[in-house]
Amino acid sequence: MKTLASLLLGLFLAFGIPAQAATFNVPAAVSQGRAFPVTVADDRAFTIDFRWRGETLAVPARQKADGSWEASILLALPLDARGRQTLKTVLNGEERTFSITAKKVAWPQSVLSVPPRYVEPPASVREQIARDRQHSRKALATRSERLWELPLARPVPGGITSPFGGRRVFNGTPRAPHMGTDLRSPEGSPVRAAADGIVLLAEPQYYGGSIVYLDHGQGVVSVYGHLSAFDVTPGERVQRGEVLGRSGSTGRVTGPHLHFGLMVQGVAVDAMPLLSYPPQTTGGPSRSLSDARPKKASR
Ligand SMILES: [Zn+2]
Repeated sequence: MKTLASLLLGLFLAFGIPAQAATFNVPAAVSQGRAFPVTVADDRAFTIDFRWRGETLAVPARQKADGSWEASILLALPLDARGRQTLKTVLNGEERTFSITAKKVAWPQSVLSVPPRYVEPPASVREQIARDRQHSRKALATRSERLWELPLARPVPGGITSPFGGRRVFNGTPRAPHMGTDLRSPEGSPVRAAADGIVLLAEPQYYGGSIVYLDHGQGVVSVYGHLSAFDVTPGERVQRGEVLGRSGSTGRVTGPHLHFGLMVQGVAVDAMPLLSYPPQTTGGPSRSLSDARPKKASR
């Protein structure tokens, strides 16, 4: 009997151990225009599929110092997301569904004055604008292995002069919302990488001026615009905090600053909440320096 028992135990150990259920960490609610990490942990190696907004991303788990395995992905809600969004995962053939509620954000409006050629671009630059868009689209379609880590590093120390998501009126004409955060930065200041990455683009563009796109994997791309000089070239691997270029006032600007953008699988998100850890997935919009300044009493 003893032999049979040990045989059964052996079989049980070989085939019958009930798999330790993987642990899923998915937020129940996320504000419009925010990115959010999703993590899945298990005690053995695995690869998991995430299905989100019509795209499937396969993420291999990484082994942690304690020997357990964890897969992380950064996903995003667009700034006009409404209602409930569905995240599906497939792990070892088992599908799970999570519902994420999009929380509304009261986006501010900013009224700006720029040279007229940036509101009604002359025919001579239409080709360049089309080429810029094509380059950006191609860069944002990149899906590579994860290099991003949270929190992101602040690219310049200056405060926010124009927050993400603001509805913008250029010279009286409404235009697309602000797809990045403008940070105060004097001409020539070093601009640093928000995370480890690979340079996708480092080129002059019409609206963005001299601009760098950095690939952090999984479709996470950071953008640094209006630079006066480049310190990197496309294809180069950079580390978090490494200098990418110098801030400036090239492209559609009202003065020198850094336009800092974060795109997650093609969706523009507010990068500011990812500068702290753990990131705040609800709240906003991010406030600017002018919002924080106490208003003088008027008479
Ligand atoms: Zn900007």
